[in-house]
Amino acid sequence: MTNKQTILIIEDEKNIGNYMETIVVAKEYKALRATNGLSGLSMCTSYHPDLILLDLGLPDIDGMDVLKQIRSFSRIPVIVVSARTQEKEKVLALDNGADDYITKPFGSEELLARIRTALRHRSQVSDAAPEQQIYSRDGLVIDFDRRLVTLNGQDIHLTQIEYKLVSLLAKNAGRVLTYDYILKDIWGPFADTDNQILRVNMANIRRKLEKNPAEPYYIFTEIGVGYRMKE
Ligand code: CA
Repeated sequence: MTNKQTILIIEDEKNIGNYMETIVVAKEYKALRATNGLSGLSMCTSYHPDLILLDLGLPDIDGMDVLKQIRSFSRIPVIVVSARTQEKEKVLALDNGADDYITKPFGSEELLARIRTALRHRSQVSDAAPEQQIYSRDGLVIDFDRRLVTLNGQDIHLTQIEYKLVSLLAKNAGRVLTYDYILKDIWGPFADTDNQILRVNMANIRRKLEKNPAEPYYIFTEIGVGYRMKE
């Protein structure tokens, strides 16, 4: 196997670094390790990994600064791995260009799913592939070309805004989109809107799409951060 994708793990805690390395190596990825921010940055430029798992609490420079520096020269997928559970940190990491975040402690399946999603989205962007035409998961079908949404074969009638919201999330299925990102994408950068209008629209969407709107199956709330649609 010469075509293994390479994952750079920037993490100062040995046990967690070993844990992540074991998980990714078992799935046929190649792993590189850095235990501080500066060596992480230099490995990023010399080895050109396919994806980075980045701890935020590093001994030399803050992980958030490592992220900003990486983004100044590369679009490589970065998943922030953090013990910090504060929503503010997650939003900041996403706004600074992280593709996703995962909060310690996490399981191997969750980590691998995030890695697959980030790699897939990045290859779609870089190949400039024609946009995916249809989203289809467990009975929910969105036809982007015809702007049609059906659930188990039944037409679902969405307003313009509701459709824009659902299709934005579906085109980014598996990724969390921040409230701010969604607001800017749908209402424009200067619109006088807030999260409340988003919540109202999401409540309406869930009434139309979800069997039990209180326990959504298709569109999840990442509390304090944004929404993520089922892959
Ligand atoms: Ca750490």
